[in-house]
Parts: sequence; structure tokens; C-alpha cells
Amino acid sequence: MRSCVRCGNALSTQGWHCWSCDWQPPSTSGIVCLAPELIGDHDGNQASLLREFAHVEDRNFWFAYRRRLIIEALSRWFPQIESFLDLSCGAGKFLDDFRTCYPAATLVAADRCVDALREVRREYGFSCLQMDPMHLPFADAFDVIGAFDVLQHAASDGIVLDQLRKACRQGGGIVVTVPHQRTRRLRGNAPRAPEARYTLPALIRKVNAAGFTVVHSQTFCTLALPLMTLSMSKQRTRPFPMAVGDHRRRGPILNDMFGGLCMIERQLEKGGVRFANGDGALIVAVRRFA
Ligand SMILES: [Zn+2]
Repeated sequence: MRSCVRCGNALSTQGWHCWSCDWQPPSTSGIVCLAPELIGDHDGNQASLLREFAHVEDRNFWFAYRRRLIIEALSRWFPQIESFLDLSCGAGKFLDDFRTCYPAATLVAADRCVDALREVRREYGFSCLQMDPMHLPFADAFDVIGAFDVLQHAASDGIVLDQLRKACRQGGGIVVTVPHQRTRRLRGNAPRAPEARYTLPALIRKVNAAGFTVVHSQTFCTLALPLMTLSMSKQRTRPFPMAVGDHRRRGPILNDMFGGLCMIERQLEKGGVRFANGDGALIVAVRRFA
């Protein structure tokens, strides 16, 4: 079910016009903007850099490894998915991988950045919605929702989790990634935005408290973390232009080396090794119904 983000009225017609409060969200390039007040607040996603960011997201070991872990988690916990919402689709690379694994699923690509969505729509043809993660216009609408590095940017991660629970169908759930607490990231692409850090137990408590049951949790990029920290500290001494993914840029040799460490880490995990630290944390949770 869809609802008006302004008044909460259930929308029964195909479009987004609300007959109760008469709000008609603006649209641009075929993308409905449900949070027009956030357009322009791009976390540094300048339009001219979006295609370059797509390249970084495609090649960088961190993005590639995160995509792989998410797909593995989805395959294990949600082998049947009919509908999927990517709450912060970025350049759309994850959804492209997702579509390969779940070709029949209905996909919605969401982001706060309408310029990013325009690129995603042009490149992949996904259905796109510009929206605020704290005001989702959905109830019982998706089998699974992905919130990949979303919570740390929200003014209230509790509100985002409440919205995710409301938007999940019975039997459905969420996959969430966040930066792990011990990470020391560079002053990055959103210097003014608050960016929370999470420990795995604290994240699990928050997600459980929001009405989910966490079924899987892990940290990732553990083996690469010392080298990443060293590499970042070297970058810190250089001029730092505000560009998306600057702290993810690597030379190809270093990038391959980091990617190799991630593959070793994954093999160790499959052999039963459990890592407590890491650059990021990932959880899978199923919505509880009373
Ligand atoms: Zn309304």
C-alpha cells in the first residue's frame, strides 16, 4: 500500500496525487520527487561527478565486496523475493547485480539525490523514486528493503527503522549495512552531515527494538582494515576536494590487493572464523508480526 508522505492518507489511484490534502509531488525526468525539500542536499553527489562515482562504485573493492556479501545474505535468507526497495541506490550497481539474481522481482530504486536517480534511470531503466528515508510512503509493500549505509546519515535512525518495518510485508525483512564503530574514515563526502558509528551489538539491539528479529550479523573488511587505515591517513595529508567516493579511490594494484584480502576473509568466514572488528557491519532482519 502507498500513502501520502504529507498527510498519511492511503493512495488508491496509480499516481501520487493525494485527494485528501491535494498534494501533488513534483517530478523531473520521469522521477517522482517525494522529498523535494531534499533536492540539492546531495551529500556531495555533484551531478558532474556522478558518472565518475559510478566507475568508483563498480571497480572499488569495498563496494564490490559489500555487494557480494549482500547478495549472499539475500540468497540465504530471502531466496524468494517478489519486490525489493533499495533505499539509497547510489549509482545503481547493486540493483544491477540484484536483477541478475532475481530477474522476476519488482525493483524500486530510491535515493535522496535526484541527479543520481536520473543517471540510474538512464543507465538501467529502473523505476526510481526520490524520497526521504525518514518518510517512506509505503505500508506492507516490499518483501525486502535494502538500507545500505543509510542509517548513519539519518537525523534519527530509529525513525528510519520504524519506516522500514512499516514498509515490509509479512515474512519480509531488511538488509542493513553501516560503518563499524572502530572505523576511522576520512572526513568524507558529507563533512557537515552527522555520521553515526555502530557496534554490532548496539545495531542489533536497535533493529530488534524496531520490531525486527535479527537473523544474521557480521562485520566486514576486517583483514583490509589496517592497510585501509594507513592508506587513508596518507590521503589525509593531501588536498581533499569534496567529491563522492574520494576516500574510496585506489590505484588498481592496491585495489586488487584489498580485494584479495576480502576474498581471504570470506574463505576464513566460510571455514568458521568469526571477525569482531571491521570497516563495516551488515545485518539481516525479519519483520516481526504481533
Ligand atoms: Zn495527503
